[in-house]
Amino acid sequence: MLGDKLREAIAKLTGKAYVDEAAVKTLIKDLQKVLLASDVNVKLVFELSKRIEERALRSEKKEALTLKEHVVKVVYEELVRLMGDSYTPRIDKHKILLCGLYGSGKTTTAAKLAKFYKNRGLSVLLVGADVDRPAAQEQLRQLAEKVGARFYTTKADAAAIVREALKDAKEDVIIVDSAGRNAFDDQLAAELKAIYEVLKPEEVFLVITGDIGQVAGKQAAEFNSIVPISGVIATRMDGSGKGGGALSAVAATGAKIAFIGVGEKIDDLEIYKSEKFVGRLLGMPDLETLMEKIKQVAKEEDLKKIESEGLTIETFYEQLKAAKKLGPLGNVFSMLGVNNIPKDVLQQSEEKLKKYEAMINSMTKAEKKDPKLIRSSKGRLARIAKGSGCSENDVREFLSQFEKVEKMMEKFQKDRGFRTKMEKMLKGMPPGVM
Ligand code: GDP
Ligand code: MG
Repeated sequence: MLGDKLREAIAKLTGKAYVDEAAVKTLIKDLQKVLLASDVNVKLVFELSKRIEERALRSEKKEALTLKEHVVKVVYEELVRLMGDSYTPRIDKHKILLCGLYGSGKTTTAAKLAKFYKNRGLSVLLVGADVDRPAAQEQLRQLAEKVGARFYTTKADAAAIVREALKDAKEDVIIVDSAGRNAFDDQLAAELKAIYEVLKPEEVFLVITGDIGQVAGKQAAEFNSIVPISGVIATRMDGSGKGGGALSAVAATGAKIAFIGVGEKIDDLEIYKSEKFVGRLLGMPDLETLMEKIKQVAKEEDLKKIESEGLTIETFYEQLKAAKKLGPLGNVFSMLGVNNIPKDVLQQSEEKLKKYEAMINSMTKAEKKDPKLIRSSKGRLARIAKGSGCSENDVREFLSQFEKVEKMMEKFQKDRGFRTKMEKMLKGMPPGVM
């Protein structure tokens, strides 16, 4: 996922003892790879890189920030910019036309929007103008009932349905669900135009799925050439690794992203805020929290310790604690570039961590150094379980998590010249650069 990879790229920078021009360039290269992989347009990635490089290395560094903090702030701000402006919904009497291709999520989104405006005290009429698929009308009728909005449709062509619906509509918000196509074509264009003329909507939302990546930009431009799109709603942002690609492509066309769909349920709709979107990718609610974390990230000593002693049960435990407190930005594994450690290993509950600490306290020095001793001795296992007030299964679980990570570290050391990498990372730059 885009978020994981972005966090790793930034963690690599924050894990460095010294940040210099080369480190910034490496970060930019990593960012490029990550963004291209989630289908962000090449040109946009190039522009973003250029801006980050310029701002990070050549311009306004605030005195109070270290270079490392400054760079991360610039990256955050540029990502927010890449992902477009935030949206402020109208909370007044208005008419909405939803358009988009088959299966993009129009009908579901119509119901989500109905709930959204109802929650804000507005009455809502849902108009079924998808005359292509009879089942679509029934789908919307049922959803309308579920959210408590009035539903209207009749047997006619789309524009006529809308005309009839408008006749005695008294609701504050009128939402029209239109028919899709497999691909954009003249017939769809004509139908949308006709609805548009009759409805005269204040908002025209194009519904797209986040998983189409940068094609979303082209789609937005196509639809916009037929009816003036006032906002894009990107659905399935809950499951798509290409969501960032879709949003950035839409933003680049100048179209606004209005809402994002984040699940199949009626409440899974969010007003689009690019800061929030980027914040979530980075695992931080906002820039301030991000800056706080950077100040606290794992120390050089942690890196050195793992290098000189290898992974011990104690360094492992320390990293579990750090991962809980600081997230990926602060954990040594991701700084070392060992990225595929399973989430459930890194994200432990408070309760579990307490148990682990108690287990470690019940281990002998030799056991801590070589946990295999515990595995192979029933007596040791029982002693540690008893001493820490845990079950033997708990102890086994902790051991197997440790072994999993140990195996990955070993593989990593073999694969990639761990020593050289560590040395480079620790030496970083002549002291004084930062
Ligand atoms: P339409 O053909 O454009 O009207 O699309 P539908 O509203 O019928 O939705 C197509 C499918 O996408 C349905 O199975 C929806 O449940 C699903 N869907 C819509 N929005 C979202 C979303 O935000 N997240 C997820 N995971 N699924 C969604
Ligand atoms: Mg539909």
